[in-house]
Amino acid sequence: MSARIIDGKAVAAELRARVAARVATLPFAPGLRVVRVGDDPASGVYVRNKDRAAQGAGLNSATMQMPADTSEAALLATVARLNADPEVDGILVQLPLPPQIDALKVLAAIDPAKDVDGFHAMNAGLLATGQRGLVPCTPKGVMHLLAAAGAALPGARAVVVGRSNIVGKPMAALLLAADATVTVVHSRTRDLAAECRRAEILVAAVGRAGMVRGDWVAEGATVIDVGINRLPDGRLAGDVDFAAVRQHAGAITPVPGGVGPMTIACLLENTVEAAIARRG
Ligand code: NDP
Repeated sequence: MSARIIDGKAVAAELRARVAARVATLPFAPGLRVVRVGDDPASGVYVRNKDRAAQGAGLNSATMQMPADTSEAALLATVARLNADPEVDGILVQLPLPPQIDALKVLAAIDPAKDVDGFHAMNAGLLATGQRGLVPCTPKGVMHLLAAAGAALPGARAVVVGRSNIVGKPMAALLLAADATVTVVHSRTRDLAAECRRAEILVAAVGRAGMVRGDWVAEGATVIDVGINRLPDGRLAGDVDFAAVRQHAGAITPVPGGVGPMTIACLLENTVEAAIARRG
């Protein structure tokens, strides 16, 4: 058997088009500000893609570039200014931040109503308690992909590999809210392969190229690969051994072209949701 490929590019394009159509009905352009400190080249590409996609959807989007030696106080002052700006609906501070800045302190300073990354403890708490808030973009994108793949979630055995605050934990909360039976596994889990083999829905968010092997995956499982790993030869690879897992899975996301494009599309969706919640 060879798994069906879940086309993240196509699902993301549909979502961006839905967002653009919604923006077109609003009497204002939702405002997004991405704050970048320093010039890490990997995040540079990502920030440019965000800007292009946001402008394509009709958002009022801009990137604020700050020098690498920006102090924590200066960044906090920028966040405070954006919090107070009525034209700004979404604020995203690009991670990682340079060592002189405490990222948690900065994330905590963002107005939760404008926290389109969904990383503020208030939004994490709302998600954990089943209340409406802003949901982190990557796991939100995975939920869209599962819907597009027709995955039946209620009662399904879902396994999330990884427990980070930005992917694994919110992913588990979203799957639980969708009535899946969720297991979260991590670096201290005893028999990772056996846990993964029980999954009908398997989401890998680890950061280790090809870690999930073919024989870790149950026949017919839906496999979502969040990992983005740069190989020594420069190519990108996911956390899943795609060629081997494809022989067992029922459906699988590729890397690139799976979860990656969804993350940006969900950032636009969050910005519009934040704008409507704030400005009606
Ligand atoms: P983190 O490094 O924050 O978390 C990785 C998680 O994987 C941790 O919970 C860690 O466990 C677990 N882990 C690490 N090694 C193992 C192992 N050998 N066995 C089992 N579990 C292990 O990463 P992120 O969650 O931020 O990102 C994960 C991946 O997703 C990365 O490749 C990243 O590039 C990618 N990513 C992709 C995005 C996209 O848009 N597609 C967006 C965000 C991330 P423990 O907690 O015990 O240390």
